[in-house]
Amino acid sequence: MLNRREFLCAAAGAALATRFADRLAAQAPFDLIVRGGRVIDPSLRLDAVRDIAVAGGRIAAVEAQIAGTAAVTIDARGKMVVPGLLDIHSHAARTKDGARLCLEDGVTGFVDAGSQGADRIHETLALAALAPQPCRVLLNIGRAGILATGDTMDVNLADVGAARDAIAKHRGMIAGIKARLSREVAGDDYLVLRRAQEVASPLDLPVMIHMGQTVSPLPALVGLLKPGDIVTHMFAPPPNSIVDDAGRILPEVLAARRRGVWFDVGHGRTGHLRWDTVEQVMRAGFWPDTISTDWTAEGRTSQVIDFPNVLSKFLDFGMSLNDVVARATLGPSRMFEVFRDRGTLNVGAPADIAVLELRQGSFDFVDNYKNVRKGRQRLFPSETVLAGKRVARTAGTPA
Ligand SMILES: [Zn+2]
Repeated sequence: MLNRREFLCAAAGAALATRFADRLAAQAPFDLIVRGGRVIDPSLRLDAVRDIAVAGGRIAAVEAQIAGTAAVTIDARGKMVVPGLLDIHSHAARTKDGARLCLEDGVTGFVDAGSQGADRIHETLALAALAPQPCRVLLNIGRAGILATGDTMDVNLADVGAARDAIAKHRGMIAGIKARLSREVAGDDYLVLRRAQEVASPLDLPVMIHMGQTVSPLPALVGLLKPGDIVTHMFAPPPNSIVDDAGRILPEVLAARRRGVWFDVGHGRTGHLRWDTVEQVMRAGFWPDTISTDWTAEGRTSQVIDFPNVLSKFLDFGMSLNDVVARATLGPSRMFEVFRDRGTLNVGAPADIAVLELRQGSFDFVDNYKNVRKGRQRLFPSETVLAGKRVARTAGTPA
């Protein structure tokens, strides 16, 4: 017996298949075809040269060769074609151009992670509403948002009532709570996190904690996390990183992962990622669930650059192209409801596609402490398709 959801999915799938067959029979052109790229889609366990046809804003077919024509054809020969990238830790809704700039980097969905608190969340939401791609925001538990003096250094700023009111007003767009917990941001980090959970738990929303250089030992903080919560900046160096001096992942961190807490990169620019810590953690086999940028306008020219650059940094730590793509597509689709049917090129899914170029050479990968690692390959954004329309194409890509 199928349950209602399975029945609806099967029915929708059958309807799509029929529409696809009709289209072929009628020789109607597709809206768009991406031809001849190396398609890497971890959700389909696919890594092969394929054509992708798009109709009505959705993926219509993924085949070795698709006959027929399209209004727009993207020649992806020699390039990689992946599901549109999903960035679960971004601040793209902090600036007017943020969402559009990220779209050029192949980002077809993002979560603005704690740019604002209850007092001014309407500003972030107004920019989020203008984003061409799907996005959600995490509400900073500090009601005044990100402050140079520390979001919740005054613990009264971690205001449960104000946060609850903001969510009641904007439920749907607010997808969780962000608690920034490093010692210049939160004095009593344990109390701040408890307040964040007081808001999030009854509503079944996730809390994302910004870890690293905290006042409290990490095990105490991680102990407060529930399944579905997210630890970002997982490669933050000591004090209070996820790994001990001997290179062992803390038992409380392993236990958190076992009970369903997610671990995310959150690259950023200050104090969140140092190569020696990355090496230790990766060597211990504790790979991230998601790779994210902690994107800001300033990061475009320093360390982060773009999402494909951040992904490239992990190719040197034993991860394959499939592994890094999974953490920017499939991983995020499991974390946030808004991405549930995205991060895939499955037939019927929204046609969000990133075309990337993998270049060989010598590349400098910089951490948050000015340490440089040399890499031999780097992914570059090339073209982006959102809801079946080509929305971005980097300079130099032929029309
Ligand atoms: Zn951030």
